[in-house]
Amino acid sequence: MAEFCTKCAPEIWVNDVREDINIDKIYESLEPGTGESVLCEGCGLMAVGKTLDNEMLLAVPTNVDHSSQMVGAIKWVTREEFIALQTYI
Ligand SMILES: [Zn+2]
Repeated sequence: MAEFCTKCAPEIWVNDVREDINIDKIYESLEPGTGESVLCEGCGLMAVGKTLDNEMLLAVPTNVDHSSQMVGAIKWVTREEFIALQTYI
């Protein structure tokens, strides 16, 4: 079943928002210096992490090959950068 994150869910489920991957709830549940793997089918979000300084970092694919579905690399961005990214795949 498809899962969508905090950013994508409101755009997919306009009237009945099912936020399968709530990045804020995941972040709150994390110990500093750890992360949790996720997979958003909207934007390709791959992990939510919490730094030792209690900063939220989100792993997103940097270059998606649409023909092969191969993800080349990931990068870690802040919540603000993530929300601003155009990463729909
Ligand atoms: Zn997403």
